[in-house]
Amino acid sequence: MTAQTAEQAELAAVIGLEVHVQLETATKIFCGCSTESADDEEPNSRTCPVCLGLPGALPVLNEGAVEAAVKIGKALGSSIPTETRFHRKNYYYPDLPKNFQITQYDAPICDGGELEFSVGGDRRTVRIERAHLEEDPGSLSHAGGSIDTAEYTLVDYNRAGTPLMEIVTAPDFRGAEEARAFLAKLEEVLEYLGVFDATRDGSLRVDANLSIVDAGAVADDGAIDEATLRSANRTEVKNISSHKGAEKALAYEETRQKNAIRRGREVEQETRHWDETRGITVSMRSKEAEKDYRYFREADLPPLRVADWKERIDIPELPDARRKRFREEYGLDPEAASKLTTTKQVADFYERIASDFDPELAATWVADNLLGELNYRDMSITDVGDRLDEFARLIELVDDGEITVKNAEEIVLRRMLDDGLDPETIVDEEGLGKTDAGEVEAAVAAAIEENPDAVEDYHAGEDGALNFLVGQVMAKTGGSADPGTVNELLREALA
Ligand code: ZN
Ligand code: MN
Repeated sequence: MTAQTAEQAELAAVIGLEVHVQLETATKIFCGCSTESADDEEPNSRTCPVCLGLPGALPVLNEGAVEAAVKIGKALGSSIPTETRFHRKNYYYPDLPKNFQITQYDAPICDGGELEFSVGGDRRTVRIERAHLEEDPGSLSHAGGSIDTAEYTLVDYNRAGTPLMEIVTAPDFRGAEEARAFLAKLEEVLEYLGVFDATRDGSLRVDANLSIVDAGAVADDGAIDEATLRSANRTEVKNISSHKGAEKALAYEETRQKNAIRRGREVEQETRHWDETRGITVSMRSKEAEKDYRYFREADLPPLRVADWKERIDIPELPDARRKRFREEYGLDPEAASKLTTTKQVADFYERIASDFDPELAATWVADNLLGELNYRDMSITDVGDRLDEFARLIELVDDGEITVKNAEEIVLRRMLDDGLDPETIVDEEGLGKTDAGEVEAAVAAAIEENPDAVEDYHAGEDGALNFLVGQVMAKTGGSADPGTVNELLREALA
């Protein structure tokens, strides 16, 4: 071990996350404004007196947001209290029209819980401290660049009032890679619950706390002595907007703090901003203490009794359980089972195909062919969500022997994705339909007739000659003949 690695081994990172996820509801959390954002929408067009914070406007809680929160709580194994309450978190910032954010303070809708995930081949479990509902603020755009150089700033309240779930973890992460794996798994679970859309811009935002402690204070099971943790100065890194971003930001911050400590400098307790384009964290401001927010009860919203909601609301089978079942029920290997359960839509489609065809064949079609071609085009199954019937029909065409596997994979599937056509149209256009027996026989006779040298080579026992002749027949039939049949017919004709 070199001096450098010995030194590195002495320090360990301790990370906790606060994850804000936008919940997929049709309307905002406290008013009837739509949450559906169009690319070309006017700023401040999806607003009303409630989400603009006008005097006298009263919030009305969206049941859909509560339902989503209860689902999340059930999926994370949180305890859901009999009664939950809302609070005002007071702070002045232009994206917050009321000068307070309606959130939850001492009685969050989800208390405790955990999430299990895989990282580098290991299983890890991270504890969830709490998860609560709150409203999203509006968004600011700084004219001419960054917040400190902008000439002026524009504010758009279209996002204000979008329901958010803030999920707070215990400081259980020991590295950036773990944080990334956790966030990816969390997104997967939320997507299964149907409460979250990962493709929506800004739908996942992460604040991360990171401090460096003496590695000796970390027990073998990862537990850390409370006093050590309290005495370590930590930074809060804000503005992380994806799981990849979280890994980069935290790796940067870990190195920055370790370097400071090794050089004998103290790590400042502060809030830092992750600058995605520069790939660094920069000091923002000293962090407000909790008392600065002057939390008090939101008197315009009565306490919410959620006791009976948790009985009433069901959640679907979650990714880990489904993965396990796919292996047992369909005999899939772990890799295929994992690929086929990354999103609920993929898993549902696989099960639909597997119920009509052989599960192995279905796995090849969905995991390798369809997902492979989609991935190659930077698309996902959601982009073709309304065309799944067409893909099912393509597999049926192959299964019925109407077209060859090769043509289905290399021509029909690709054109379906590139040209947006249905499989039957492509089969017609390309003339890929089943060739009748007479046509294949004629092609076999012609290939023999036109290639006397290859015939001679075949009789002389040369291996490649038959393949060459098969290729000639395939070309004559436009690739629609079955290669196995052609092979047989050629052998018979040449015997
Ligand atoms: Zn509104
Ligand atoms: Mn929050």
